[in-house]
Amino acid sequence: MKKRSWMTLGIILTFLATVLLTGCGNKEEGSNNGATGGANGDTPSEAASALGEIKSRGKLVVGVKYDTKLFGLKDPASGNVEGFDVDIAKALAKEILGDETKVELKEVTSKTRIPMLNNNDIDMIVATMTITEERKNEVDFSDVYFKAGQSLLVKKGSPIKSIDDIKKGTKVLAVKGSTSVDNIKAKVPDVNVLEFDNYQDAFSALKAGQGDTLTTDNAILYGMAVQDPNYEVVGEPFTDEPYGIAIKKGATDLLNSVNEALKKLHDNGEYDKIYEKWIGKAPSGE
Ligand code: GLU
Repeated sequence: MKKRSWMTLGIILTFLATVLLTGCGNKEEGSNNGATGGANGDTPSEAASALGEIKSRGKLVVGVKYDTKLFGLKDPASGNVEGFDVDIAKALAKEILGDETKVELKEVTSKTRIPMLNNNDIDMIVATMTITEERKNEVDFSDVYFKAGQSLLVKKGSPIKSIDDIKKGTKVLAVKGSTSVDNIKAKVPDVNVLEFDNYQDAFSALKAGQGDTLTTDNAILYGMAVQDPNYEVVGEPFTDEPYGIAIKKGATDLLNSVNEALKKLHDNGEYDKIYEKWIGKAPSGE
């Protein structure tokens, strides 16, 4: 009799556990927007299953720039998005899911990338993003995968030759949500900064004479100088901009697998190939 009641209790507990587990699984699936995690307000333990979710989905959803030549630029004719960050995203998909085509790219801008990550629209950000202490309050970062520094783009023949020539009245163009805006204001407190939504708009504004210089990372500015050789990058970089891959806070398993993948790409020469393809001889990067 005693033995039987233990058995009955065992059956009831197994049943309850199954119901609870199945219930949780369904809830997560239902609230998933296509990328990591459930609805807003994920706890760190929910975020920690990010890698498992990507694997069962069979696709890595990555936020990349569509406006940044050399890193992530959409070709309007073909619809293809190409660049260093895009190739890094594909290489990560190859390492994590065994197939570089198992990646879905979504457009982010400097301003939208953190909200999109924390809203579960994307699994990670691979988008010219500098690792900063302030941003670490909102996202986790991988190891550094590219080193840039802030610089200036001007029309050839401009009197601006370096950061020392940026004065109170200088009209500087930059992009919303970038470190570039804060950095230039910190260097020249009274500077006049005009902020745009993306880099192609900022570059168009420079070409239309709406500003004296455009400031952001040297590597991004080199891409613009390639697009229009009437423009050049001047002066030495005046900040350090180490790029990291941003992942939702607390998704430790995903963060570890990204860092392992990055290490592998360095070890097997794949990183160097991607670097050479896009950055080549530009005097920037690692
Ligand atoms: N690396 C800088 C940043 O993360 C500037 C480039 C960008 O806007 O993405 O803000």
